[in-house]
Amino acid sequence: MDLYEHQARGLFQEHGIPVPRAEVTDSPQEAREIARRLGGRVVVKAQVKTGGRGKAGGVKLAADPPAAELTARQILGMDIKGHSVGKVMLAQPVDVEAEFYVSYVLDRAAGRFLAIASAEGGMEIEEVAASRPEAVARIHIDPAEGVTSAKAQEIADAAGLPAQTVDVLVRLWQVLVREDAVLVEVNPLVRTRPGQILALDGKVTLDDNARFRQARWGAEGTVHDDPLEAAAAAKGLNYVKLDGEVGIIGNGAGLVMSTLDVVAGCGARPANFLDIGGGASARIMADGLTVILSDPAVKSVFVNVFGGITACDAVADGIVQALDAVELTKPLVVRLDGNNAVRGRAILDGRAHPLVQQATTMDGAARRAAQLANTS
Ligand code: GDP
Ligand code: MN
Repeated sequence: MDLYEHQARGLFQEHGIPVPRAEVTDSPQEAREIARRLGGRVVVKAQVKTGGRGKAGGVKLAADPPAAELTARQILGMDIKGHSVGKVMLAQPVDVEAEFYVSYVLDRAAGRFLAIASAEGGMEIEEVAASRPEAVARIHIDPAEGVTSAKAQEIADAAGLPAQTVDVLVRLWQVLVREDAVLVEVNPLVRTRPGQILALDGKVTLDDNARFRQARWGAEGTVHDDPLEAAAAAKGLNYVKLDGEVGIIGNGAGLVMSTLDVVAGCGARPANFLDIGGGASARIMADGLTVILSDPAVKSVFVNVFGGITACDAVADGIVQALDAVELTKPLVVRLDGNNAVRGRAILDGRAHPLVQQATTMDGAARRAAQLANTS
């Protein structure tokens, strides 16, 4: 899970990394009050989980409290790369002398963390890395050793950062470890005219697998950006929204993954991943169909079940009961194979729903579902 800048800032502060004074609000009137508290002049910053807010007009200087209210009004509700701005952070402006870039990121391939640092911060690091790769230092960190003062000094030297940043580099590592993050990034880390080091922006990505021991993000962790995924999660379904038009239901993650491939091989795009697991009860089938049918992009649905421990007749019973509970609005192609397949197919034939058709092979069913999606 990615955190908002103001949440990252809060973590930095807790771990002793200096940050500008700042407050968050969703109200322009309150923005005026906050600006007054912060001394009048403020930077108004859109809180969205995407970078490049500055370029997109989501970071603006306001000269006084009335201007802060006006600017907050402009930025709240703004769309930045598909993210709608619900809150703004107002921060005390600082006199920037130099901008640096620092981050720690999990390097899965290397089995290490990677420190990326540059004395050319402020802009997007990808651009710096592309145009002047020698300006970006990349140093691996042994996760068992972490970033000691000596390691921090090595990173600072390699990137050409001033010695004053060493303390921040050590503390930033503590943020990563103690908060169970897989990415922490400060861009820009600045030296102010009076010579202070400050984190002006922050990005933190938490490790979702560690959510159980980071209780404070509990409620927020379940927030899904996609409304269909949110609805599916609320029903306890293992569902991922994709961009296509063939709805997919299958039992077992491996089978569902190959179903996505087979549908793509038939010239259609899968609309989702949905693994109903071993249970395949009427309830799960009905819940799965409800979520998939509520996706306006879906043109046909493919139910692909291989009966192993789960028997196909039980799955067929589940589908028949689900058809009584949910109004089927799109054609459904069912492939039942394996344990009790013949009985399962007979149950579905007996129901004789006009929108349901069966295929005996996975390829045949995928072709049919793709055809239905491409012609309707
Ligand atoms: P981003 O565009 O989403 O990365 O948002 P940032 O928080 O990094 O802000 C963009 C840029 O605005 C930074 O790189 C800084 O150059 C500038 N900026 C942000 N806050 C201040 C500030 O308090 N003082 C000054 N001088 N510049 C700032
Ligand atoms: Mn930034």
